[in-house]
Amino acid sequence: MQTKITLPESSIPDHWYNVVADMPNQPLPYIGPEGQPITPDAMQAIFPPSIIEQEMSGERWIEIPEPVREALKLWRPSPLYRAHRLEQAIGTPARIYYKNESVSPAGSHKPNTAVAQAYYNREAGISHLATETGAGQWGCALSLAGQMFGLQVHIYMVKISYDQKPARRSMMQAWGGEVHSSPSNLTECGRKILDKDPNCSGSLGIAISEAVEEAAGKEDTNYALGSVLNHVLLHQTVIGQEAKAQLALVDEYPDVIFAPCGGGSNFGGIAFPFFADKAAGKEVQLVAVEPTSCPTLTKGTYAWDWGDSAGLTPIMKMYTLGHDFVPPGIHAGGLRYHGASALVSQLYHEGLIDAVSIPQTETFEAGLLFARTEGIIPAPESTHALAAMIREAKSCKESGEQKTLLFNLSGHGHFDLSAYDRFISGELRDEEYSSEAIAASLQNLPNVAFEE
Ligand SMILES: *Cc1c(COP(=O)(O)O)cnc(C)c1O
Repeated sequence: MQTKITLPESSIPDHWYNVVADMPNQPLPYIGPEGQPITPDAMQAIFPPSIIEQEMSGERWIEIPEPVREALKLWRPSPLYRAHRLEQAIGTPARIYYKNESVSPAGSHKPNTAVAQAYYNREAGISHLATETGAGQWGCALSLAGQMFGLQVHIYMVKISYDQKPARRSMMQAWGGEVHSSPSNLTECGRKILDKDPNCSGSLGIAISEAVEEAAGKEDTNYALGSVLNHVLLHQTVIGQEAKAQLALVDEYPDVIFAPCGGGSNFGGIAFPFFADKAAGKEVQLVAVEPTSCPTLTKGTYAWDWGDSAGLTPIMKMYTLGHDFVPPGIHAGGLRYHGASALVSQLYHEGLIDAVSIPQTETFEAGLLFARTEGIIPAPESTHALAAMIREAKSCKESGEQKTLLFNLSGHGHFDLSAYDRFISGELRDEEYSSEAIAASLQNLPNVAFEE
């Protein structure tokens, strides 16, 4: 009975897959402050040319530079597992597989794009990267990548996480990252906020504004984002390409694929290479899983909106809860985002992919079952995909269907153990989303006159 399906280093993909080439309708442009499609030139202040080109590319395959493949070798190809013990515990006739992205040094899928972004910025002569981080996963991934490619990384970490998650802060510093509590007095927008409220606990929106302000104001500094944008999803497609090759080794093809969805990067990463087959007529169901308390796809609106709360980013057509919606403080910090990738949003809007939402306690119940059968303690984000997959495995038990199920274990939960503590001691509750708060936030969408 095979448990782990591995590939040699030579099987790390040499191209990224760009889903735009197989989408029935082309994506809409991003809109700038003047209400017109944003030009590549306008993005030059904060991104290197190769990243801007990838962001707007319609090419199906984009070559992975050799130094990036070399960096990926530290943890890729990641193993694919058959979850025999989980199957037995559920008593399902379904065959369950999971791709283990927790094996990267930072413990999640995020370094897959961090190394590519660091490489292209260094090639463009940039010496510093500015970024934001909430719970700390992205800040860790970019610090690691900065260290590998010789870039200094400045991270604006949301103050409440800076105070509550000192271990993630230590990891960033160990990899040479410089971490600032946000709002900080290093930027004009940080100082403005601190003047008004010296005890402000910060938000992702504020941290993004600080990082963008620093990058836009300094010649040697660019900005890097860990999700949402097309090039980030592109870089993550190594996950799905490897999974497809690994499943083929055991003569399998998935009926349903599940991934947690925050900004959409690990979902796109595992699902898009299979979408290529779906576009060619193959049957495969692709399911993005989100928290019921931050239900961007399942309860949001498909509309033009900003990527940050301050309105400094371009405007994108996407599913959104409104850029000033503040989700409840659930433990899956990586899923607390008001919007979703434009590509994921469009495919969902066109009925080509599916989405479900899961309440917090059900996700931790799934996480514990996984820890007690498969051994790995999953990140709270990953437990969303796991819980949705367990629902499907149980329905296979009732129907007797022998489906092949695949889910993305996007990260481990070693820095989220206090959340597991709270669940085990019965303190954790489901956070309902507030339809009033969402409705109020949707009042503030930008007015875009651009003709689609
Ligand atoms: C950041 C993160 C996510 C959510 O981000 P996506 O861009 O939607 O993938 C999911 N899982 C883990 C472990 C994360 O760190």
